[in-house]
Amino acid sequence: MFKTYDVLAERVLDGAVLDRAEALEVLATPDHEVLDLVAAAGRVRRAHFANLVKVNYLVNLKSGLCPEDCGYCSQRLGSDADVLKYSWLSTADAVRQAGAGIAGGASRVCLVSSGRGPGDRDVERVASIVGALRTEHPDVEVCACLGLLQDGQAERLAEAGVDAYNHNLNTAESNYDAICSTHTYADRVDTVEKARAAGLSPCSGLIVGMGETDDQLVDALFALRDIGSDSVPVNFLMPFDGTPLAGTWELDPLRCLRILALARLVCPATEVRMAGGREMHLRSLQPLALHVANSLFLGDYLTSEGQAAKDDLQMIADNGFAVLGADTEGRAPDPVAIRRRGAGTTDAPNA
Ligand code: SF4
Repeated sequence: MFKTYDVLAERVLDGAVLDRAEALEVLATPDHEVLDLVAAAGRVRRAHFANLVKVNYLVNLKSGLCPEDCGYCSQRLGSDADVLKYSWLSTADAVRQAGAGIAGGASRVCLVSSGRGPGDRDVERVASIVGALRTEHPDVEVCACLGLLQDGQAERLAEAGVDAYNHNLNTAESNYDAICSTHTYADRVDTVEKARAAGLSPCSGLIVGMGETDDQLVDALFALRDIGSDSVPVNFLMPFDGTPLAGTWELDPLRCLRILALARLVCPATEVRMAGGREMHLRSLQPLALHVANSLFLGDYLTSEGQAAKDDLQMIADNGFAVLGADTEGRAPDPVAIRRRGAGTTDAPNA
């Protein structure tokens, strides 16, 4: 048991490693103490990342029609989710899409494709996209997320200029069979290790809200710590209609804050990203999450829409943070909107 959240943060800043009992206690934080927890985790965040927010931008190079059966995924085998389905974007299109995110403030572009894993031809396709992207945007970081890697593919991606490789462990090993039958947790660990061995920065994180227990959530975070993930995206399950997890609503905003705070305290110096599903699950508490996480995806996700990119940037500025690598010029405030509805008009009120 720790005495206060501040004492816990102090110990973490002094190099202590969170143990299971402490981690479970963080997840059990009573509602009225969540702000104290956020403040304590926020101290750790600021010690390592000051007031900076890393902005990442997703480009879905190939969407839908995956032969794997991950239960959370709208692109899975048998998914009836009405998402975009298309084969590989051309190099020019991929670079144009990435350019929009870079213009919006992203310092990292994540090139993603659906599927079990790339063939060697796919790796060459991505290598050519990365080459073209680097010609136009030499300073941008590139992360690839192409599924399970075979021997030699990580090395080829590194040689092509890819900086990082994303492959999420998603959940605890003990929960893995419940969410996927076509590959294993060990397969995922293997790919993260292949990426690291090739010199790619490992990016690996979670999807929470998939039926995991608190113990399993702690297992998953400890596994990410042990595997040395440089960046931990925390995704909040978006239960797409047409997938097995449709209708699964286990999260609420305070629970999401507890989970992000735990990720920060378990992996204090690691990039922690408030990732997919933050809008629908954190809702009005999204800005508080920025005081714990130091990274987000700008704009849209792979198959779903996020909040407007300009609102993401406004949220960052309003909370006293700055976008990593961007100039600090703010945007002009919106003008006052004159009421033209409700009382005194024939239009419906805003209620
Ligand atoms: S392998 Fe990737 S794209 Fe395919 S179902 Fe799983 S998460 Fe979705």
